Amino acid sequence: MESKDTKETTSEATISEKNYDTCNKLNEITKEKKEEPQQNLSKNALKKLRKQQKWEETREARKLALKEKDKRKKEERRKAKELGLIQLPPKKIKVEQIPSDMKVVIDLSFDEFMTEAEITSLSLQLSRCYSANRSAMRPVNLYFTSYGGRVQERFNTKLQNHINWKNVVFETRTYWDCFNKEKLVYLTADSDEYVQELDEEKIYIIGGLVDKNRHKNICYNKSQRDEIASAQLPIGNYIQLNTRKVLAVNHVFEILVRWLECKDWGKSFLEVIPQRKFNTIERKKRQENNDVNSTSLQYPECEGNEKSCDE
Ligand code: SAH
Repeated sequence: MESKDTKETTSEATISEKNYDTCNKLNEITKEKKEEPQQNLSKNALKKLRKQQKWEETREARKLALKEKDKRKKEERRKAKELGLIQLPPKKIKVEQIPSDMKVVIDLSFDEFMTEAEITSLSLQLSRCYSANRSAMRPVNLYFTSYGGRVQERFNTKLQNHINWKNVVFETRTYWDCFNKEKLVYLTADSDEYVQELDEEKIYIIGGLVDKNRHKNICYNKSQRDEIASAQLPIGNYIQLNTRKVLAVNHVFEILVRWLECKDWGKSFLEVIPQRKFNTIERKKRQENNDVNSTSLQYPECEGNEKSCDE
């Protein structure tokens, strides 16, 4: 530990020396610039202009300094590794995946109900679903239906590596056009039905929507209109939340794949739902027990207040 501290101090000193050199370089450039006549400009505008010029002209020097710093850091890290001063993370154990036949559809037909920021957030949630499925022990068949609009734009511009994604179908048609309606179950916190066990023959739909629950019942109403079954997750039977039980798309997806692995709702909810959503009693209980396995305890249904998903 002691030698690491010494090392850090030494490397800081080296960085300071380099920074000093760079600063000198910067000062020289600015000094030259200051001597140029600048007419018809207010003192403030002149100051701003000089600052901007200085910033532009020192771009290369800054880039170089950063590159050098990076190189030094890499070298220091390499040496520290050699000396055993850095502990490497344990190697990931590869789990053998047993793919499930279950299909999970994310219904992306709600473009017009979201702001630009919500579209960004939804796109991130979709990539989280993809990652969760990739590393799941029992990956499902994942479909993004009604794919198009701003989500597609976002994927094409900011999430371009999605073209390499495997085991996910980007489908422009609606779920209605793709699947047998008898097998469809729309998951929604507004349903009166509860999922008991997941049925791998079924096709579960998650509404691709980030709306802070502004649009209440939107997915439930859609399931009624399309005459398909609906169900909510049995969250209240296992944990008490401080909000209504409306979760983010990726959390619902992660709960489904986790359930397929352990067949235990309590465990799945506890592992996936963020602790900040638990109510005070629940949090206290969890802290006291500090035990993820104590989920056989059953709680009465709790509605909580009417606040909704904060994702
Ligand atoms: N106002 C939206 C909320 C979107 S939350 C609505 O009417 O549903 C994103 C999606 O996650 C939902 O459409 C639903 O499919 C799923 N979801 C969220 N919480 C759920 C719960 N407790 N049970 C079942 N599905 C849930």
